[in-house]
Amino acid sequence: MAVKGEQQPPLHILFFPFLAPGHLIPIADMAALFAARGIRCTILTTTVNAAIIRSTVDHANDASHGTGCPAINISVVPFPDIGGLPPGVENGMALKSDVDRERFFEAAQPFERFLVDNCPDAVVSDSFWHWSADAAAEHGVPRLAFLGTSMLARSCTESMLRNNPLEAAPDDLDALVLLPGLPHRVQLRRSQMMIDPAKRPDHWALFQSINAADQRSFGEVFNSFHALEPDYVEHYQRALGRRAWLVGPVALASKDMAGRGTDALSPDANSCLRWLDTKPAGSVVYVSFGTLTSSSPAEMRELARGLALSGVDFVWVIGAATPAPDSSEWMPGGFAELMARGDRGFIIRGWAPQLLILDHPAVGGFLTHCGWNSTLEAVSAGVPMVTWPRYADQLHNEQLAVEVLRVGVSVTGGKDYASSGVVMGEAIAESIVRLMGNSDEGDAIREKARELCMKARCAVENGGSSYNDVGSLMDELMARRTAYRNAVKVGEGIRPTG
Ligand code: UDP
Repeated sequence: MAVKGEQQPPLHILFFPFLAPGHLIPIADMAALFAARGIRCTILTTTVNAAIIRSTVDHANDASHGTGCPAINISVVPFPDIGGLPPGVENGMALKSDVDRERFFEAAQPFERFLVDNCPDAVVSDSFWHWSADAAAEHGVPRLAFLGTSMLARSCTESMLRNNPLEAAPDDLDALVLLPGLPHRVQLRRSQMMIDPAKRPDHWALFQSINAADQRSFGEVFNSFHALEPDYVEHYQRALGRRAWLVGPVALASKDMAGRGTDALSPDANSCLRWLDTKPAGSVVYVSFGTLTSSSPAEMRELARGLALSGVDFVWVIGAATPAPDSSEWMPGGFAELMARGDRGFIIRGWAPQLLILDHPAVGGFLTHCGWNSTLEAVSAGVPMVTWPRYADQLHNEQLAVEVLRVGVSVTGGKDYASSGVVMGEAIAESIVRLMGNSDEGDAIREKARELCMKARCAVENGGSSYNDVGSLMDELMARRTAYRNAVKVGEGIRPTG
């Protein structure tokens, strides 16, 4: 039993991220957020991936220096030998084939060894490491699952896995499939469904394993906040009976605005920010498709045409996911001359300082693939979106942004261009102008984006919903630790399960 006045050591939480920037970045931000609340945080990852989050962790540690909060530690481990991958290929961005991508899910790092040696009070494990649920339970460590997507998208996957609506759906790839039991009417084209059990039983089994592992965990943490998707918080917690803490937007905890998520910031970053300084407020559209989504030369050509036709100034990130094709392969006539003018557009090659760009007053729209981090970063900066999702949860994140929150305009209008065809430049230009131009629709969207930005910032402030969710999670973990230690002291020797 704890003696009155006895100083409790801080909680120790192990973070175990999936090896892709879209998973590592929010995990590092979450660790910063938890550390600022006095939790000792360790992130277990491999050498290449540690480099991706090093700057964020260093900035968080510098900011907390002298506050009495514990520093975040990165425990660097070798990448496991899963065979066939060249040295240094340790991250989703570097994977070239579906076979390699699938084997990656089994890339078991020495997770159990860490649990045995360090006995953390909890582990925040990426949901993709579904096998970590049994390992954590085996060692009596509560597991908090983190998938890094919206509650809406997570609920859609749950509905899919529970109801398998594809079974009764027409075989036509263009057929609309309804996901039952959700707070809103959510449907996708058959071709857009992330998991089709008839076509990919192995995928179906993997996602069933992930969902089951999350369900038998202590609970789940979400990079989201209550006021953003209240119907889905209600659905997840009450209708599905799943324990969830919403602790985001975690990017608002980042002290690393420029180099977050990379060890190789684009050399264009500074001049881009200076270029934005010359532009009027809200006049520039920022274009980025995240870290994994590539564009074909045909898509790039239409995007360039769309940006030119829109008449709106732009910053366009051509990242590592898009192999740098020769400009003759994609550049439409007149685009080189437009770029040479210097005042219409700025292209960043490589890694962009996305948080700084979204926070820049000149940026008034974000043409995005709707990765959840980007979507939430747009919301947190009050920047409305032109949405162009390609696959997986991006499609549901678009539905949240456009249909539920009404802070975006869709480029595709729900059509599946990822499977066939190319979105034409005219459609891209029209969506940008709808969002950024002077119209009642644009004004309403901008007003909604401003409101949500305020709500996002309030959520993480002292007394806000996310601040309180972190507090209640800490209280539960602390109570659990005390109960466990007391039980051990009185000789019951019970082992709590994960
Ligand atoms: N990001 C960035 N600069 C870039 C590309 C991406 O800072 O040039 C960050 C972005 O801010 C976000 C993350 O990388 O935090 C991408 O995550 P998201 O979920 O949006 O997309 P993914 O890459 O996982 O598809």
